[in-house]
Amino acid sequence: MSNQQLIPLSVPNIAGNEWKYVKDCLDTGWISSVGSYVTQFEQMVADFAGARYGVASVNGTAALHIALLLSGVKQDDYVILPNLTFVASANSIKYLGAEPILIDADPDLWQMDLDLLEEFLENETDERDGELICIKDGRRIAAIMPVHILGNMCDMDRFLSIVKKYPLQVVEDATEALGTSYKGKHAGTFSPMGCFSFNGNKIISTGGGGVIVTDDEQLAKRAKHVTTTAKASVDEYYHDEVGYNYRLVNLLAAVGVGQMELLPSFIKRKKEAVAFYKNELDGLADIRFQKELADVETNGWLFTIQTDRQQELLAHLNANKIVSRRFWMPMNKLPMYKDCIYIQKKDNAGYIYNTCLSVPCSTNITDEQLEIVAREIKSFLT
Ligand SMILES: *Cc1c(COP(=O)(O)O)cnc(C)c1O
Repeated sequence: MSNQQLIPLSVPNIAGNEWKYVKDCLDTGWISSVGSYVTQFEQMVADFAGARYGVASVNGTAALHIALLLSGVKQDDYVILPNLTFVASANSIKYLGAEPILIDADPDLWQMDLDLLEEFLENETDERDGELICIKDGRRIAAIMPVHILGNMCDMDRFLSIVKKYPLQVVEDATEALGTSYKGKHAGTFSPMGCFSFNGNKIISTGGGGVIVTDDEQLAKRAKHVTTTAKASVDEYYHDEVGYNYRLVNLLAAVGVGQMELLPSFIKRKKEAVAFYKNELDGLADIRFQKELADVETNGWLFTIQTDRQQELLAHLNANKIVSRRFWMPMNKLPMYKDCIYIQKKDNAGYIYNTCLSVPCSTNITDEQLEIVAREIKSFLT
C-alpha cells in the first residue's frame, strides 16, 4: 500500500492529437487571440451540444459573466442561484454589481430545490411593469442561473414550467455538464445561453477555457463582440463599447480540438467508473449516491458519495494516497455571500457539504486504481 502511486481526483487526460495541434500553432505562429482552432473548437462544442453557435472564452467564469451581461443583468439586480455551487457562479453575478438570491439544494438530486423555488416565486415576488420584483426590498430579480451540479440535472420540464410564468432570464451554468442530457436534449441548450468550462478538473480541458452555446445568431455575435474588446472595425482600433479581453487563445483551442475528439471515449470511461463504484458500494454501511432522474443521462463527471462518516473516510482515503475531496462550501458560508437572501427549510446544502465526498474518477484512471479506491472505502466502512 505505501508504495502505491497517488490516485488523483479528476485530472486532465491528454491522449489524442493535442500535441500535434499545439505544434501546428507553434510552427505557424498562430498562437494568440485568433486562429482556425478557435473557430473549430467553438463549432465542435456547439455541434456536440446540439446548439447552432459556440463562442469561446478564457474560462467558464468569463462565459457566465458575459451570458449574464447579455441577458440584461444590471447593477443592484438579483439573480437566483443554488446555494450549493462552485463560487464562480456567484462571482459572475457579483461582477455585474448584482446579488445572488440563494436557493437550497434538493436532498436527493443535490440540484436547486424546485419546491423552494416555486414557493419563493409565488409568495415573495411581485410583477411590476413587466419586471419581477423581490417584495422584501423592491429590487428587481433579473435572472435565474440553474447549475447542473456534478453533471446531473433537475426535472427540466418542471423547472421551465415554473420559470416561464415570470419575466426571468435563464442562464445555464452547464460548466460541469458537457455530455449530459435531459430527454435527449443537451445541458446548456434549455436557455438562450448555456456555459461550459474546460478547467483542468472538467471532463475535457484546455488548461483553462469556456464556451457559451446559443441558437441565437445575434446573441452569438454579441458574445463574440464583447469577449473580444468590442472592436467594431477590421482595420482600425475602433471599439464601440467597453468590451472584455476574454478570448480563448488559439494555442489552447488547439488542445480543445484534440480533447473534443476524445470526449465520447471520456464520457464512456466516466460512466464505467460510476457503474463500477455503484456496483461495489451499493448497500455498504450508510453510503448513498446522488439520485438521477430517469429522464437524465449524466456524464458521470465527478463521482461523489454521501456518508455521515465523511470526515473519517476523507482522512482515511487521503492517508492512503487516494485523493478525495468534500463538496464546495455552500455560498451562504462564504464571507462575500453570507448576507444574501437564502431560501431554505432544512439547509440541505449544509448537510450535503458535511456528508459528501468525491472520489477519484479521472478518465485515465485504471481498473486497478478503481479497485483500490473501492477496497479502501469498503474496508473502512465495514
Ligand atoms: C468549473 C465551474 C465553473 C467555471 O470555472 P472556470 O474555472 O472559470 O472555468 C463555474 N461553475 C461551476 C459550478 C463550475 O464547476
